[in-house]
Amino acid sequence: VDLTAAQQQVVGHGGRLRVTGGAATGKSTALRARYLSLATAGPASRILAISRDRTASTAFRDEILVDLRGGFDALPITTVFGVAHDLVSRAGDDRRLLGHREQWTLVERLLAAEEVDAPSLWPTLHPFVGRRAFVDEVARAVLVLRETGGRLPAGDERWAELASFEARYRAALDERGAVDGPGLVARAAEVAGAADFDRFDHVLVDDGHDLSLAAGRLVALLGERASTVVVAGDPEVATRPDLDPAACLSVATPDPADSLVLDTRFAPAPDEFRIVARHPSVEPEAIAAVLLESAAAGVDWGDMAVLVRSPAQRGRAVVRALARHGIPVSTSASRPADEPVVRAIVDVLRWVGGDELALERVLSSPLSDLDAVAVRRLQREAKVEGISLSEHAELASLRQLRDDLATRADRDTPARLAYSVYRRLMSHLVTEPDNGAGSDAANRALDAVVALVDGLSRWSDRQPGARLEDYLASLDAPEAEPDPWRTSARSQPGVTVTSIQAATGRRWHTVVVAGCLEGELPRVSGFIPFFDPLALPGAGRADGASRPTVAERRARSLAVERRRFHLARTRATARLVASAGPEPKDIVSRFVERWPEREAVLPAVEVSPAPHLLATPGVTPVFPDSLLRLSASQLNTYEDCGLKYAYSYGLRVRDEGNVWSGLGTYVHDVLERFLQPGNDIDHSLEALRILANERWSDDIATYRPQREELRRQSLEILDAWWESEGQHLDRSTVVAVEHAFDIEIGPHRIRGKIDRVDRTPDGRIEIVDYKTGKKEISDDAAVDDLQLATYHLAAERDPKLSAEGSPDRLRLLYLRSMHSREQPITDDHAVRTEARILAMAEQILTEQFQPSVSADCDHCDFHRLCPLQPEGREVGAV
Ligand code: SF4
Repeated sequence: VDLTAAQQQVVGHGGRLRVTGGAATGKSTALRARYLSLATAGPASRILAISRDRTASTAFRDEILVDLRGGFDALPITTVFGVAHDLVSRAGDDRRLLGHREQWTLVERLLAAEEVDAPSLWPTLHPFVGRRAFVDEVARAVLVLRETGGRLPAGDERWAELASFEARYRAALDERGAVDGPGLVARAAEVAGAADFDRFDHVLVDDGHDLSLAAGRLVALLGERASTVVVAGDPEVATRPDLDPAACLSVATPDPADSLVLDTRFAPAPDEFRIVARHPSVEPEAIAAVLLESAAAGVDWGDMAVLVRSPAQRGRAVVRALARHGIPVSTSASRPADEPVVRAIVDVLRWVGGDELALERVLSSPLSDLDAVAVRRLQREAKVEGISLSEHAELASLRQLRDDLATRADRDTPARLAYSVYRRLMSHLVTEPDNGAGSDAANRALDAVVALVDGLSRWSDRQPGARLEDYLASLDAPEAEPDPWRTSARSQPGVTVTSIQAATGRRWHTVVVAGCLEGELPRVSGFIPFFDPLALPGAGRADGASRPTVAERRARSLAVERRRFHLARTRATARLVASAGPEPKDIVSRFVERWPEREAVLPAVEVSPAPHLLATPGVTPVFPDSLLRLSASQLNTYEDCGLKYAYSYGLRVRDEGNVWSGLGTYVHDVLERFLQPGNDIDHSLEALRILANERWSDDIATYRPQREELRRQSLEILDAWWESEGQHLDRSTVVAVEHAFDIEIGPHRIRGKIDRVDRTPDGRIEIVDYKTGKKEISDDAAVDDLQLATYHLAAERDPKLSAEGSPDRLRLLYLRSMHSREQPITDDHAVRTEARILAMAEQILTEQFQPSVSADCDHCDFHRLCPLQPEGREVGAV
């Protein structure tokens, strides 16, 4: 390789050197050339090369082995944790290193044990000690404190109490013969600081911007004891929010050190564009199309990647979409834990551990031969018999398995228990040698089970004596990047789907950066953590400087997000695509605002003939007692579209609502409290605004831009209501707000809530139903609106409302525009409504769940499950 003059300086430098440069500027190439040059002049065993993780160090080793000449008895090419572990174990300290889940579990156990004495152990924070969120905060903060060296900010009670806990945590680690990451590195620094330490002549560090502060200090110490040290990194992609970007490079190579910038870029800039899908569910399909296009141009699957902020969320949807189109995904991306069989085995273990709800998931999993109808039947029969589901007679063999495993839970490792589940419930996946290879699905399931049992065995090796209870507790630990000292399974060739962070140091021909939306990339926050790392004296804040304000934190957060996006952007060598699938009112990321846009093309799917749906098997009908309990909005949904009703209320495919339903709930809540008969709230705009402020919760949306938009819109709605109606309203005429009813219609019950009931001047009542959406129905449609008609029927039959007088006026009130739509009341209004509802109930009972061509599909979440929509075509008719 021809090196530039700057790279040659890296190779030949004879002292302490800090090298910075962006992606594709040849930092790693120069380090490898330096390594080979040093190895010709001295023993390779005295050259320490440190990479950011095991994958990178293996790649470094593989590349230099091709050119390394002569013999060597050791090649210390490793990670910071690798060298730390080596130094510590050579010094006779063989404590076991905890992974992040084990560390979290230890903190959780310690805090649980401290609940009784919390007031004395946590003088100001004791009310939080039993809370799960507090465990997360403490588990993070204790590592930060240990990493920064334990220096505390003066007068900060939270950090002082945390420091006391850290002493107890340290004692617990010692008692268990364990050490955490910062502890291991600190102990290695003690070894390296000994007067007679003499292990390395040269130290080389790649991706030094990713070092922790403690690791940086260890490198600095090793560098002091060596003849030369070169640390290379790119501060432009450093993403730790609590550290200045160049802090770790400076700590690892303290002044005086020479600095060198590599600024010759060896690769041309990639072709960059963005695609904006029209719905979040379509984005993964559009990503698959991009990858198929690259493959058609001859790019290997292994030379493509999809980078996401969170593999646990967006990554899964992408992996599933790629699988639908037959695109191979590297096995490390399709994590074993995402495989249905693995989730099912873990659910069996949860059930053994006492989680009864896990049984329902097991019954719907590949471990059970029951279909959804059979599971529902078992649930109904158990309910009728008044027993728990697990006591059902048909589940005797599963129950036997649970009881067997429960008796072994105290003496067998979780790996052995998981293997037993596999042997008892899944051995049919193993193909007999004579029968040739198993199906792809069976092989994939088998691979995932092997990976699970293997991982559990390693988990048990690291924690001798830990049993099922400990394993189940560790499952509650939050997701985090894989521990950098662990080797991941060697991945199969395929598209890499991973986090932006884990892509450091790697490059691919085609890279798709998914989820380019405001709130996700960037996710800007001025949030002050419970234990604020920026309060600690350290690299993120100069000693004596005041703590940053919220505005400064937001600016700092945006800078980190820019570097994160830069990291993602610089992973592509030829083709870089930013993708987004915004919901209404989501905003495409400012980082790609000006990028050229190409149309999101959906890949063609080979459509097989639509499956012929069999009639519900068995003699037990879905509604055995033929009685329905419906709400007015369920009736409305069914009338709009039978399939939407079946998904929403029959199967409960998605039941979480969205930000717009959250806005509707909030506005209804404010108006309910404001107009509640008998309350003492002043009838003024100011009082309405104060109430709105009190009732506001940031939980309404995940992302700040959405929250701000919802806040703005809800205040506009309330102001408009006050202006147009509220200020003129005589509150004494409001008879009821959010009035709940539950009435009989034939054999069925219909329930619901009426937003407002007013008394009219002639002593009758008016029903008002608020609408917060933008879409308004026509006057003609209002005449037949089933929800208003149902409210009319309820007002006639509900004892409290019927005592107030018969309904005189039925009105939909659109709060955004303050338009009203009215439904005239006819003489046979109640009779006709009852007949409509009975007819509809009959259709539901006979499971008539067809999609409707005239439905309000724009506001439907089930496009991908609907044969009328292009996205649902793989299950639709040819
Ligand atoms: S997309 Fe339209 S037709 Fe399909 S389920 Fe949704 S509302 Fe019904």
